[in-house]
Amino acid sequence: MRARIYPLALGKILHHSISNINQEVAGLMVGKVVSDVVEVWDAITGSQQGTPGYVKLEESVMALVAEVLMENLPDLYIVGWYHSHPGLNVFMSPIDVETQKAYQAMFPKAIALVIDPLEFSTSWKISDLKIGVFRVDKNRGVVPVRFTLGLQRRKVLESTLIGLQTIDLIPKKPDVQADELVKVSAAEKIEDADYIVKFFSKAKKFFSKNKG
Ligand SMILES: [Zn+2]
Repeated sequence: MRARIYPLALGKILHHSISNINQEVAGLMVGKVVSDVVEVWDAITGSQQGTPGYVKLEESVMALVAEVLMENLPDLYIVGWYHSHPGLNVFMSPIDVETQKAYQAMFPKAIALVIDPLEFSTSWKISDLKIGVFRVDKNRGVVPVRFTLGLQRRKVLESTLIGLQTIDLIPKKPDVQADELVKVSAAEKIEDADYIVKFFSKAKKFFSKNKG
């Protein structure tokens, strides 16, 4: 299995991790599987709790993203997750392995992307950018997945248009430390859902107009 990451998706992951260099961040990767290649078209994030060595994306984020994708962009689905390891290098911790197992249980071809943006954030040298894509095998072994940047013209354009529309998909809340968890009220969650549904109804219009 291989992975192909389209430019804006990679840019969003990079931007998210660089703008929170003092703590881990996480998000979902959205795309599709074409023969044996996992194509990452977009990266979407939402509420999470992070520390310098730990991050947990709220489960509601996945549920909301999956729902709106199904209703509005049925060709795309959640193909995995990303998270950062600022200054810790790129690897899969025991917790990461468990998380990845859960993703693979839901979607057998799910991939995990780990990024350490620390050196790159000061040098801006491509050679300092540390990124790894992984899967977990039956024996809980970590298997690296080869990945390239997606360059097919039509898909670059299409994924960029989708990615630009989902930049503010989920309203950003201030990141909270794991030891001071803030409870999100049901009302707030419904507000988020309304926002996303409205957002995607706009996207739907665009895509039905441009299909074929
Ligand atoms: Zn990790």
